[in-house]
Amino acid sequence: MTITIASGKGGTGKTAVTVNLAKTAIAAGHSVQVLDADVEAPNLHLFLRPTIESETTISARVPRVDETLCTCCGRCAEICEYNAIGVFGSSVLVFPELCHACGGCALACPEKAITEFDHPIGTLRQGAIGDATAFVEGRLRIGEAKAPPIIRQVKKCLQREALVFIDAPPGNSCPAVEAMKAADYIILVSEPTPFGLYDLRMTVDIVRQMKMPYGLIINKVGLGNRDIYEFSEKNHIDILAEIPFRRDLASAYAAGEVWVERFPELRQSFSSVLKKVTAAGGTS
Ligand code: SF4
Ligand code: SF4
Repeated sequence: MTITIASGKGGTGKTAVTVNLAKTAIAAGHSVQVLDADVEAPNLHLFLRPTIESETTISARVPRVDETLCTCCGRCAEICEYNAIGVFGSSVLVFPELCHACGGCALACPEKAITEFDHPIGTLRQGAIGDATAFVEGRLRIGEAKAPPIIRQVKKCLQREALVFIDAPPGNSCPAVEAMKAADYIILVSEPTPFGLYDLRMTVDIVRQMKMPYGLIINKVGLGNRDIYEFSEKNHIDILAEIPFRRDLASAYAAGEVWVERFPELRQSFSSVLKKVTAAGGTS
């Protein structure tokens, strides 16, 4: 079963939830795999401390123009939807960071002046947490804008027979959707503030359109107001757990500690979430 942990807004505690659920599942004897798909800022490794066994470069095919063949007709720039190639005076410039590697410009060039080469956009790191838990992390190169191809590579490592936890990127755009597409169940993490609720509404819309089973964990309970509860009730959203807003939890997180190891009173909450979610997905 694959569980994606997502949040419309950054800083809600999505990574903390992923870490603590994974640790709870490992302690309960599940065969677990953890995927960090938050490729712009992967940080699960800070808490799970995996041993990295391999690191591979992920590349995208981007165009290269042979100036001896190019007539500066401008056809490539016309068809590029991402403004990744343009004619400037008597030269054609390619902006690899903007290119989506669609291959359209090479097909459109009447002079066959465009070839493609591998441009590195990130890395895939694989390893293990302890003896038995597989760990995969995607990492987007600084300055690159193409997170979805990295997330797709991370997802290719998915072991369907394991209980898989995917830490999704925050937000509601393509990278987050790409990470959610792999899931059998989506856990949304939000906080009871107006900003938290604003982004949660958008994420719930997306998850409903995807027709995915989902539930909500409310973090930082005690902060903000009760609007998120009213929204959840009105929209029949299952609240899986509530995590209190406490200074000691924040300090432990900042120090890279795992809550279920440091605070025994939270173990029951995370065990209960795991039971509900695996029951919903048909795993016990
Ligand atoms: S389509 Fe080909 S020939 Fe025309 S400007 Fe682009 S690279 Fe040059
Ligand atoms: S490969 Fe596609 S996205 Fe990249 S420059 Fe060519 S047309 Fe634009």
